[in-house]
Amino acid sequence: MNAKITIATLAAVHAAATASAQGTRPRPEETEVYKPVPAVVTPGRVDSDAPSDAIRLFDGRSLSEWVSTKDHSPARWDVHDGVVTVNKSAGNIETRRTFTNYQLHLEWRVPENISGTGQSRGNSGVFLAATGPGDDGYEIQILDSYNNDTYVNGQAASIYKQYPPLVNAMRKPGEWNVYDVIWTAPSFKLDGSPATPAYVTAMHNGVLVQNHVALTGPTLYIGKPSYKQHGPEPIKLQAHGDPSPPISFRNIWVRELP
Ligand code: MG
Repeated sequence: MNAKITIATLAAVHAAATASAQGTRPRPEETEVYKPVPAVVTPGRVDSDAPSDAIRLFDGRSLSEWVSTKDHSPARWDVHDGVVTVNKSAGNIETRRTFTNYQLHLEWRVPENISGTGQSRGNSGVFLAATGPGDDGYEIQILDSYNNDTYVNGQAASIYKQYPPLVNAMRKPGEWNVYDVIWTAPSFKLDGSPATPAYVTAMHNGVLVQNHVALTGPTLYIGKPSYKQHGPEPIKLQAHGDPSPPISFRNIWVRELP
């Protein structure tokens, strides 16, 4: 009886020792993950083309995805030659759809005959979440910043009056500029106070200009920003009142992110 117990005990100790030895030697399989399998997305022919899971916001032909900010009537900017040109008298336009987190691709061109200086030279902008009428929201600036001095947190690719771009990657008037932006919306607690800030990562013509910057609130022309609770919002394009010739846009698409 005692001998049996002893043999059984020795066997158990041996098994435990073996397992322990195996446990101290990690196997490659232990860190291999098989599920969930990432969805297949078919990329465009070139990287600027909309991939298969993108929503095309402007394809060169129609503004059907856009409305006027002030009264939500159909957008009245000028579609021609595969581009849309700002109609300054018609005011800002915004998407019919609302978004939370996303990847945005947008191309814009300052006209070759641009005039004016500083903020009055090709001013427009992309509001990554349009939280209200007019210029309410979070603006990444559009401006002719090719040899055009202004305050640096208001030049092209700035988060307006919060973050200057890391570098100035502007192409000259008449050439197309490209923005690729990752927007993470702010989140709010049940009582409406901010929980996590909005984050922006942005490329200008393929060059990193904003690297996961945390916004201090919506962008303001005057004063210090602060967050006010909001949900999914439209993306808005600015019809700035400066007297310089209007800029144009083309090839705008968005991919919603978790
Ligand atoms: Mg602007």
